[in-house]
Amino acid sequence: AAKRAGRNAYAVFSPSMSRSVLEEAQQRVDLERGLEQDQFVVLYQPVVDMTTLRMTGVEALVRWQHPRDGLLGPYRFIATAEANGLIVPLGRWVLREACAQLARWRRATPAAAGLKINVNLSARQFQYAGLVADVAAAIGDAGVPAGSLTLEITESMLMEDVAGAIETLGALRALGVRLAIDDFGTGYSSLNYLKQLPVDIIKIDKTFVDQVDTDADDVALVDAVVGLCRALRLETVAEGIETDGQWLMLRQIGCDHGQGYLFGRPGDAASVTELLDRQPEPEPHREADLGRQP
Ligand code: C2E
Ligand code: MG
Ligand code: MG
Ligand code: MG
Repeated sequence: AAKRAGRNAYAVFSPSMSRSVLEEAQQRVDLERGLEQDQFVVLYQPVVDMTTLRMTGVEALVRWQHPRDGLLGPYRFIATAEANGLIVPLGRWVLREACAQLARWRRATPAAAGLKINVNLSARQFQYAGLVADVAAAIGDAGVPAGSLTLEITESMLMEDVAGAIETLGALRALGVRLAIDDFGTGYSSLNYLKQLPVDIIKIDKTFVDQVDTDADDVALVDAVVGLCRALRLETVAEGIETDGQWLMLRQIGCDHGQGYLFGRPGDAASVTELLDRQPEPEPHREADLGRQP
């Protein structure tokens, strides 16, 4: 044990170790400055109806426009922000920005009236005591309906403290926001928990989508999850759809919604405005419009 402690103590001062500690400290300072100086941006990826292909919502995905390193994806900074707690103010900023952007789309075009927005929560944010108040303020200040916001959480965030998680989810749901389990299938949540959890949407992880057009086992798995969700009255979203074959199979299985490069990559707010302007009116409106044609 002494030897192990000694080795650990030494490891703190080893060149490779001290470099990563230094890097983390540097990134903390960078992140704080980034927040102060508005270096973060939110991109939006379409979520579509699997049968009509209409965009029903978008997922907000954060990026960091780093002054030295360029545009960074979440894998480059979310873990550090999570470790040092800066994820709480950063996540609050994403939430507020996403709600404000939804309000801008709603003001800009009637096509955005039913548009939903999804925002990812991190584990630390989910445990943060001020979360429910932050969410209430974000939708209230933006003036968007609570039901247009979906918060995404992962299975691992729920399993640490199931009773506490159910309480937080209940408080969020009481605001009227919807809740989704992200990356479903990659964690260890039991079917029993799924029944207890007050959630509305299951997002089936990309790993089950990748071979769903060629692998019978994946077809069986996704089919079982979709069947289960239907029984529990949960909506399903398939993540990471890249090919027609995947889309057609998932549509046949009966997945409600889809997200992936096939339908659209994450883009800026203007790209979503363009999509909204281009997409056909929903059926009843289109019929009404046709009725007015001379
Ligand atoms: P996620 O929530 O599961 O988001 C989906 C990720 O898959 C996004 O990566 C998206 O760009 C990517 N993706 C979507 N369709 C496809 C596809 O067809 N093929 C492939 N290869 N990838 C696809 P991104 O934007 O890099 O985000 C990665 C993860 O970072 C997210 O996974 C989420 O867990 C986290 N994240 C993103 N934004 C936030 C945020 O604002 N707060 C927190 N806490 N986490 C965030
Ligand atoms: Mg997500
Ligand atoms: Mg996901
Ligand atoms: Mg994820």
